[in-house]
Amino acid sequence: MAEIIDGKAISTQIKDELKTKVSELKASGKSIGLAVILVGNDPASAVYVRNKKKACEYIGIESLSYELPEETTEDELLKLIDELNNKNNVNGILVQLPLPKHINEERVLDAISPLKDVDGFHPVNVGALSIGRKGFVSCTPAGVIELLKRSGIEIEGKECVVIGRSNIVGKPMAQLLLRENGTVTIAHSRTKNLKEVCRRADILVVAIGKPKFIDSEYIKEGAVVIDVGIHRQEDNKLCGDVDYDDVFPHVSYITPVPGGVGPMTIAMLMNNCVKSISLQ
Ligand code: NAP
Repeated sequence: MAEIIDGKAISTQIKDELKTKVSELKASGKSIGLAVILVGNDPASAVYVRNKKKACEYIGIESLSYELPEETTEDELLKLIDELNNKNNVNGILVQLPLPKHINEERVLDAISPLKDVDGFHPVNVGALSIGRKGFVSCTPAGVIELLKRSGIEIEGKECVVIGRSNIVGKPMAQLLLRENGTVTIAHSRTKNLKEVCRRADILVVAIGKPKFIDSEYIKEGAVVIDVGIHRQEDNKLCGDVDYDDVFPHVSYITPVPGGVGPMTIAMLMNNCVKSISLQ
């Protein structure tokens, strides 16, 4: 019988641990501040930002909010980031993506001090991960590792297949599994025989961005399946990149959507905010 990995419960556990840490830090005179920058009126981004602020409040992290109009220029945004880089009460800086089209995302993300880059997107932090140095790690893949570890799933020596090679999920995911001594394969849209490749996996992490793409034909009996995907269906319900009902009878562990990987992303962002104190 497959076990469902409860991302909601695990993320709450992490947030409670962080809450205790933050109150200990406060008792020793240290506080943590996260600057959250939102440019424009994208409704989905506004929801994400609101949830991040709520998590900060729960844990005891001070969130400083910068809600800028759609017309904000790249120079204005870069100037704000420069100010925040130099502010002592700001430990983390988060720019909510996507940015309006007239702003170069890469230039903006590169302007954030690597020591305050709690999203783990700066090339310095990406490089640090790949050579095993300290730094911030992208939140969603870091959350997947926590889900595996806290569910008692061993990674060392396991065949791990990651489908997807994006900079924010697939690539850091593969690096993290490698760091945990997994034997890692990265599959993508040019991979030949995807089913065969996936059927080798003891641990299959799916980050394709296509609803219910992975069915039981891609699964080795008893595999662990982690579904990073998130999609709103026509009936307004959420689903992942994995066809959950079809795959379920064949797996040992699986993450549901919603309630699997999703809640972990914010928990790991909070973890990065707390970690910023020791990195700075
Ligand atoms: P992305 O940038 O669109 O990357 C998708 C990856 O999947 C690409 O590397 C692509 O390969 C690969 N791919 C696409 N079609 C494929 C196919 N038919 N066979 C094999 N590989 C294929 O997406 P992302 O940002 O990594 O996100 C992936 C999913 O996770 C999305 O559903 C997203 O909404 C979700 N997500 C969830 C969270 C969370 O907090 N839960 C966070 C981030 C993302 P190529 O590189 O060759 O094009």
